[in-house]
Amino acid sequence: MKRKLNKSKRIALVAHDNKKKDLVDWCVYNKRFLADHHLTATGTTGRLLSEKLEIKVKRLLSGPLGGDQQIGSMIAEGKIDVLIFFWDPMEAQPHDPDIKALLRLAVTWNIPFACDRATADFLLTSPLMRDDYECMIPDYDQYIKRKV
Ligand code: PGA
Repeated sequence: MKRKLNKSKRIALVAHDNKKKDLVDWCVYNKRFLADHHLTATGTTGRLLSEKLEIKVKRLLSGPLGGDQQIGSMIAEGKIDVLIFFWDPMEAQPHDPDIKALLRLAVTWNIPFACDRATADFLLTSPLMRDDYECMIPDYDQYIKRKV
């Protein structure tokens, strides 16, 4: 199965507190590029981005209050094309299970995602970000139809 990603991508943005400055700086640096896409973010990340970017950012709940799970469910429903998630490798989070679940769903549905600035740079400068793209969806048919 395939899913078509349009030229204009639906990008989800999330950053842990110690990484928020990094993500905001990265978004400001890439502001002109990001303006051609649809941005969604967890609550606090979204507030900071709205203040700095002058681009519309759809805000979900704050990550620990369910925002990570909202993004995860949007990925599963095919409503997010790309995830930029600057998580903090140096600090345990109260919502660690949600973080793991979000990263798992990104892989489950084969969406491109970046967890640090260098990878985000490579992702954003890929020619595929400016073009339509046919994304392969793994075949879960056997799993769904398994005998239980
Ligand atoms: P926040 O959530 O943007 O609401 O701070 C980020 C997170 O998932 O920790």
